[in-house]
Amino acid sequence: MSNKEIMELTSSHVMNTYGRFPVAIVSGDGRRVKDADGREYLDFTSGLAVCNLGHCHPDVVEAIREQAGTLLHISNLYHIEPQARLAKLLTDNSFGDKVFFCNSGAEANEAAMKLVRKYFSLKGSKRFQIITMEKSFHGRTFGALAATGQKKFQEGFAPLLEKFTYVPFNDIKAVKSAINDSTAAVMVEPIQGEGGVNVPHEAYLKELRAVCDSSGILLVFDEVQSGVGRTGKLFAHEHWGATPDIMTLAKGLAGGVAIGAMIAADAVAKAFTPGTHASTFGGNPLATAAGLATLNVVINKGALENCVKSGDYLVEKLNALKKDYPFIIEVRGKGLLIGVELADGIKGTDIVRESLARGLLLNCVGDKVLRFIPALTVTKDEIDEMIAILRTVLGAVQKA
Ligand SMILES: *Cc1c(COP(=O)(O)O)cnc(C)c1O
Repeated sequence: MSNKEIMELTSSHVMNTYGRFPVAIVSGDGRRVKDADGREYLDFTSGLAVCNLGHCHPDVVEAIREQAGTLLHISNLYHIEPQARLAKLLTDNSFGDKVFFCNSGAEANEAAMKLVRKYFSLKGSKRFQIITMEKSFHGRTFGALAATGQKKFQEGFAPLLEKFTYVPFNDIKAVKSAINDSTAAVMVEPIQGEGGVNVPHEAYLKELRAVCDSSGILLVFDEVQSGVGRTGKLFAHEHWGATPDIMTLAKGLAGGVAIGAMIAADAVAKAFTPGTHASTFGGNPLATAAGLATLNVVINKGALENCVKSGDYLVEKLNALKKDYPFIIEVRGKGLLIGVELADGIKGTDIVRESLARGLLLNCVGDKVLRFIPALTVTKDEIDEMIAILRTVLGAVQKA
């Protein structure tokens, strides 16, 4: 089928929840993808920070092929080897002791919020309220939507799940004054992704840890976007030496296969017992085999090192663009989670559309922040190629 045929079929039969660009991507290899008309693109979106090893990484493809021919699904009525092995790899390499598997970021956050409530309810405590941040993003299910501190996602869905309080990101005083006798947890993205690639102050996460400890409440890090190597460390919170009680993962964890995970220290994890939470597909053999292969590459095959090196190079090149195009206000982020904030009046979506027309997949969050989330395996040459395209696009935008 052609781009046009696929677009027509989509608009006739698929529910209209996405504002899509007018192409259908049909194949991918590394940092390149092709559309249905055979046109090639350099991909700096990675399927929204999911295909962190690039498209169709051979180790991930091989693990999927192998598992698909062995056992696709069996359910959590039984033990599942790749699930157990992925849980070991995750806990060996994080603060956590136990993992609950699900299928998406929103589900991982739902699991985290249920664990918080169960933990305090077992203590006979009345703590159930969760503090989250303005401009946060935690997903679209009802619980995760209520946790998300952005009105635009919540409009038309009232009444929302109750007992969330929103405070400004990076403001420790605001958190302190929001905590009361019913507060159970603070949930935060170590770097806000959808909210504009907002990086915390140096001491913020450690201060949050201290405030949660002194108040006897839990700290939850949503690393659905920032986790699994995206920022140059396996988990973003490692940059700031702050450890949560609970962490959620999803996007990049299985190299492109749907998965979610909620990880906790034993003292908290033990609040979940048989029957308290479940997912039919959670931790299925296919997703966890893909997760194992992905995490092995991230940890053992140099993806983190390349992320740091390429991230530094990307930021250097973007800062050079900033000198030439004054409507670039700021370049920020860590590793390969990089945001470029644009001045008022410059539309990020225009830049994204123009880039697409020139063979580059880019993304923007809100209308003012271009987000650069290439595969952790991206090369210097590919960054140069991207910058060259972007330079032409910015030149055109400046003239317009
Ligand atoms: C994408 C995202 C989610 C939601 O993940 P889904 O898989 O779309 O449910 C939650 N939290 C953060 C930080 C995200 O970036």
